[in-house]
Amino acid sequence: MKQKLYLCGLLLCLVANSPAAENSNPEACDSPPTAITSVRLFDGEVVIPSATVVIECALISGISRDNSPQDLATDAIIVDGGGKTLLPGLIDAHTHTFRRDMLERSLDFGVTTVFDMGSVSKDFVSTIRAEDLDGVATDRADLFSAVVWVTAPGSHGTQFGEVPTLVEPEDASAFVADRIADGADYIKIIYDNFKMFDGEIPTLSKETLFAVVDAAHDQGKMAVVHSRDVDAYADVVEAGADGLVHVVVDEVPGDPLIAALKRNRMFVSPNLSLARNDGLRLIDDPIFGPMLTEDESENLRGWRSLRREGGDQVEYDALMAFYGAGVTILAGSDSPNGGTTVGASIHLEMELMVEAGMNPVDALRAATSSPAEAFGLTDRGRIAEGRRADLLLVEGMPDQTIADTRRIVKIWKAGNEHDN
Ligand SMILES: [Zn+2]
Repeated sequence: MKQKLYLCGLLLCLVANSPAAENSNPEACDSPPTAITSVRLFDGEVVIPSATVVIECALISGISRDNSPQDLATDAIIVDGGGKTLLPGLIDAHTHTFRRDMLERSLDFGVTTVFDMGSVSKDFVSTIRAEDLDGVATDRADLFSAVVWVTAPGSHGTQFGEVPTLVEPEDASAFVADRIADGADYIKIIYDNFKMFDGEIPTLSKETLFAVVDAAHDQGKMAVVHSRDVDAYADVVEAGADGLVHVVVDEVPGDPLIAALKRNRMFVSPNLSLARNDGLRLIDDPIFGPMLTEDESENLRGWRSLRREGGDQVEYDALMAFYGAGVTILAGSDSPNGGTTVGASIHLEMELMVEAGMNPVDALRAATSSPAEAFGLTDRGRIAEGRRADLLLVEGMPDQTIADTRRIVKIWKAGNEHDN
């Protein structure tokens, strides 16, 4: 019997604790290792033309970047990666996730982690957190959540039911503490008076925005802000927030603002899927189209009214200005808002990024390593020894043809092959 080269399982995999039916312990399991051989590898950062990646239990236990022959356990499962590309599981940096089936559906499309930017979903988040205590769920994406956004009376976000609101800057600290008590992993702030859309509505004052960002940081949380025009962006940058969701849609920001964003190491999640509202492309997609439910297709038909005459080019030009300056770009679908759907839309988001002018490799980074790094997750987002075996195997070369991310062959969540 050949010796195992890979060390993860040496001690712990022998202690064969049976994992719970739908959860996987990172270091203990009774299943054999899996080796994906001769595969094109996008490791979250760069492309390696031919490699072998070994999964043991929930983790990546070994990578041969030159695809040299590996001594594997005799019971190892071999997956021939010839003609295929292995990617880290996709991360959607902007969703509104409030039901378990949305996380299951995300995984069906290779999305292994989602960031919920607020869904008024305290009980749901608590339920998922309770599940997570049993180990890593393997039948759904992982959830990180803002639970409830910070917004002003009559502002965006108050139309979705009973939402607490904030007016005075001196109340910001207690308000943020309440969101953390709700279970927020980070603080999501709405700062948008909708002057670009249906006429102006109230939003937080600039002073209150500043106070909320400071309160979030004082209480150890990131501050992520929803804004869509250059004036709001400028205030958010001045406030020292960690990132922005929605690309600006009124005009391309000037160089000083972009330089400040870059200097402050802020991220931008452009959410082109919402801005363009072009979900029909997924309905017409030969691979994804047949996978969609009637409800998902209906959702993708979307909010066509959101598309503004000439707007698309501003959105693309603004994204390219940020991208060109080296600002961190995160892929986020803003699903399930009109024109998007859970899971599938992140693939279109990457395609829209490439259509705007981004290199396909950078679009892949935006949906893998970049969101993991931006939110401080060191266990995922890359294919590296010791990281979570959240993996997506696709036909073709998505680093050259981004739509190849849809040609899904296999999905692994925490080392468990997902049947989609
Ligand atoms: Zn959103």
